Amino acid sequence: MSYESRMLEQLAMPRRAEVQSVLLRTLLKHGGVVKEFAAGEEVVDELADRFRLNPAQRTGALETVYRKENRLKKTLLWHRLLFRAADALATDGLVSRPTQTSRLTGKREWMLTEKGFDEALRILQIPAAEKDSLPIKSYEVQKLVKKLYDFRCAVCGLKINSPDNLCWQVETAHIVPDASFGRDDLFNGIALCRFHHWAFDVGWFSFLDHYKITVSSKVSHLPPDFGRWGDYELIRALTKQQMGIRLPRRRGVYPHINSIRWHRQFIFVNDVPFTL
Ligand SMILES: [Zn+2]
Repeated sequence: MSYESRMLEQLAMPRRAEVQSVLLRTLLKHGGVVKEFAAGEEVVDELADRFRLNPAQRTGALETVYRKENRLKKTLLWHRLLFRAADALATDGLVSRPTQTSRLTGKREWMLTEKGFDEALRILQIPAAEKDSLPIKSYEVQKLVKKLYDFRCAVCGLKINSPDNLCWQVETAHIVPDASFGRDDLFNGIALCRFHHWAFDVGWFSFLDHYKITVSSKVSHLPPDFGRWGDYELIRALTKQQMGIRLPRRRGVYPHINSIRWHRQFIFVNDVPFTL
C-alpha cells in the first residue's frame, strides 16, 4: 500500500468516487466552473464542509523528502484527493483541466463539459428539459463560439494566437452579461478581440437588428487624444463606415436578436433614445 493510500485510510478520508460525485454537483452549483484547488480556498473549504471533515482531515499532509535539495515538501492530503477526483473526471471527459480551460478563458479553472453537465443533472435528478434554463458555462460553448468565428474578432477581424500556438487572443463575449443572467450559449455569444470585448461591455457600441454596428453618440465628446493608436482612432473608426460584423457561415448560429436588443437597450450608452 502506498504512503498516500495509508494516509487516506488512517485519516478515514472520503472515497475518491464520492468526491467525484460531490465535485460534479458543486460545479453545477457554481455555474460550471471552480478555481484550481491550490488557488481556490473557498471551494476547497466548501467541499470539506460537505464531507464534514474534521481538523485532522483538513490539515493532514503528505511529506516528501527531497534529499538532493535537503528539503521537505508538504502537500495537503485533502488538496491531493480533490485533484485526483477532478483529474479522474477529466479523464472521463466530464470536466476540462485548468491547463485546457485557461487557453480559452485565460483563467485556471476546472470547467464542466457538456457531458459533465449532463452527468451532474443526472446525479441531481434534474430533468434534461430544464438544462437550457440553467446559467452554466461549459467548455464547449466557449470553444465553439471562437471556432464559428474562425478565431477572429467579429468587429475588426483580428486573428492572432500566442507564439506557441496554444492560446487565441480572441474571447467569447456574452452579449447579455453573466451578471444579468445572460445564458452561456451560442445565441448569446460572439467572438471579440480584447479591445472590442471591453468596448462592447462598457457600451461604446452595439449592434442593429441587421448586425451592423452602431456607435455611442458620446463619441462626439471624446477628447481627440483618447482612443488613439498612432493615427488610428479605435472608436471613431467604427463610425466612419456602416460596418457590418463578421458572422459565422451558418445563419442558424448568429447571435439572437433578443440578446442584441437587450444589449442595445441596457448596455449601449447613447444620448439619443434608440428607435428602430
Ligand atoms: Zn476587434
